[in-house]
Formats: sequence, structure tokens, C-alpha cells
Amino acid sequence: MEEETFTGSFTQQEPIPDAGIAAAVDVMRHGRLHRYNLTDGESGEVALLEREFAQFVGAGYCLAVTSGGYALGTALRAVGVAQGDRVLSNAFSLAPVPGAIAGVGADPVLVETTEDLTIDLDDLRAKAASSGAGVLLLSHMRGHICDMDRLMAICGGSGITVVEDCAHTMGARWRGVPSGRHGVVGCYSTQTYKHVNSGEGGLLVTDDPALAARAVMLSGSYMLYGRHLAAPAPDAFDEIRYSTPNMSGRMDNLRAAILRPQLEGLSLRVDRWKARYRRMEDGLRAVPGLRLIERPAQEGYVGSSIQFLLPGWRPGAVERVVARCGDRGVELKWFGAEEPVAYTSRYDSWRYVTDQRLPRTDRVLAGLLDMRIPLTFSLEDCALIARIIDAEVSAVREGMAAVS
Ligand SMILES: *Cc1c(COP(=O)(O)O)cnc(C)c1O
Repeated sequence: MEEETFTGSFTQQEPIPDAGIAAAVDVMRHGRLHRYNLTDGESGEVALLEREFAQFVGAGYCLAVTSGGYALGTALRAVGVAQGDRVLSNAFSLAPVPGAIAGVGADPVLVETTEDLTIDLDDLRAKAASSGAGVLLLSHMRGHICDMDRLMAICGGSGITVVEDCAHTMGARWRGVPSGRHGVVGCYSTQTYKHVNSGEGGLLVTDDPALAARAVMLSGSYMLYGRHLAAPAPDAFDEIRYSTPNMSGRMDNLRAAILRPQLEGLSLRVDRWKARYRRMEDGLRAVPGLRLIERPAQEGYVGSSIQFLLPGWRPGAVERVVARCGDRGVELKWFGAEEPVAYTSRYDSWRYVTDQRLPRTDRVLAGLLDMRIPLTFSLEDCALIARIIDAEVSAVREGMAAVS
């Protein structure tokens, strides 16, 4: 039989909706790209985006900034993290997360990872007590949401402030509550590979007026914070406007114009992602030696990527699966690789972080494979990709059995 191959691109996102293109062209025609460059009676695309995103997640305040990483750093500063502090965070995450902690001069205390790819809550409880950290930067890495009720109880009991990294959970929920709305502040990315696409960009939401005011000042509002539509009233700025440094990281009207129609269509896109995720899951469910991540009933996930484990497999065998799938057009990323590759890195390659050992995370990452699911894939594409993974995992597994 002719071997099937996949010819689609794992990095090709959908085009910007026509309404976004038209709005962006308008901004370029009038030339007022800076968020505070407004004519009489004009709100500006950035302020409108902030108001719409605040409504979308049900937050009191929203701030748009230059990137998701910038939103994380701003959130950490706004909750009061200072030079030399220790900040709890997931060992399984992406480099901008420990990078945001290092960026404020703090040191990450990494928390273990479960086989469901969420933060290990027992390890969190222990480190909340022993580390002296006052803040958890919680990363919902690859869209997996931990038991948020238990996490908030642990952090509440230990006096830990929770900042959420929702780069992979925009549009997701835990027991109906939007991701990013459990902690004191939620941060999102609008970078091309996330759930809305403006090339680069970030959003931050909170209900805390003092925190929101600090974040707005930090982002570089000068004394123009009155032009925001999702910021606290001007009196919240009365004192902090003198003491809060301007760390220039505003979003511009062009990117906000591109984002607003995407935000409007996000719920529909989430449904399309979920359909693709389920098709992929269906195709992989019965593959011997491969373990899918079971999604808890409380989790309203998006499914813009899928992960599976080859538990206990030797590195060489996992590498063979990656190579053989790659030969057939299926791009898998392996989180167990010694050397960081492209966007993927293991915690031990973040060498600016104090050296830490996390044996449970090591075990999980050693067998962890990851794949993006762009919306340019059809449902049939997803079924084909799953067939290819099934065949190659099975072939490598049979090879292992033959030599042992
Ligand atoms: C992309 C990403 C970020 C940072 O977002 P940028 O907009 O690229 O700065 C943070 N956390 C995770 C888990 C991410 O994947």
C-alpha cells in the first residue's frame, strides 16, 4: 500500500478576517497609529479592544500591551514583585514565563508537573510553605488547566498571589469561569501562534483598580490614562502617577484594529479547534503504548494543540517516532530533548534560573510529544495525521519489542 503523507503546514494560521484588514487600512489611511493620537470624539482601536476584551472575560479592567511576555512582566511588577524575590512557577512552560520573572530581577522556584501536564498541587503546597515566595506565576501550558478550585485554596491558605499566564487558554474555562479570572491578574498573548493573531501583542485583565492603575502607568500611559475605556477612574492614579516608572510597552491602533474582529469570532474558532482536537484524539485513542491526556469535565478547553505521552520510552525510540512522523509531513515537538529546539525548551536549559531538580517533571517530559493544530487543517487532515502517528508509533514499538 502507498504510504500516506501529510503536506499541510503546522505553522500556517488563517488569514486576518476582511473586517480586520479593512479596519487596519482605515488606521493606516488616517495615520493615527499611536493609541493616544485621537481626534475629537474618537475612542481609538486600542481602547475599544480593551473594553471588548474586558467584557469578553468579565473583568473590571483590561490593558493592551506589546506582547504576552510584556504583560507577564507588567503583572509581576504591578503585584509588587521586586528584585531578589522568589516567584513560584511551572517547571513545564515556555521560556517567556521564567524570562518574565528574571526580567523583574526575581528568581523562579519551579514546581513539578503531573502526568496530566498541569502543575503538581502537592509540590506547590510544599513549596508555597518552604520557598518564601509571595507570588505564583501560573502557566496554563499548552492549554491544560489544573484543578483551579484546589489551587486557589492552596494559594489563598498560604497568602500567595496568583498571576495567570493564559497564552494558551484565551477562550478556555474552568467550571465556566474564563481562564485568567481566578487569579488577581490574567495575561494573554496575541502573537501569531496563539488564539488571536496580531503578530505580536498582549492583554492583561484584573478587577483590582490599584493594580490596574499601576499596570497602565507602567505600560507608558504618561498622563493620558483618562483616554482608556477599561482602566480605573482617574483618582486611582492620583498617587501612583508620580511613583510608577514608565516602561513603554503600549499596543498600537493598527494591531488592535486587526484583533477586534478576531475577538468577535473567537467563540466560533474555539468550536472549530475543539472539533479538530477531538478528531485527532479519536484517531490516537487506541494506539498501544501511547497515552492521551484525559481532559477533566470541569475544563472548557480550546484544543489549539495536542499532547501525548510515550511513557517509559527510551530517548532513542522517541526520537525515531519524531523523525519518522517528520518524514511523512507530521511535525511533532519533543519536550524531552537535551538541547532546546525552536520554541521548545526544558527547564534545565533556562540557566539564568537557580539550578533545581524536578524528577517528576523530568519523567513526564522525557516521553512528551506535542503538536500544533492550526485552523487551516481540515477534519480530514486531523484524521490523516492521527493515522500517520498511529502507524509510526506502532512501527517503532514493534521494532523495540523485536530487539528486546
Ligand atoms: C507565547 C507564550 C508567552 C508569551 O507570549 P509572547 O506574546 O510571545 O510574548 C507566554 N507563555 C506561554 C506559555 C507562551 O506560549
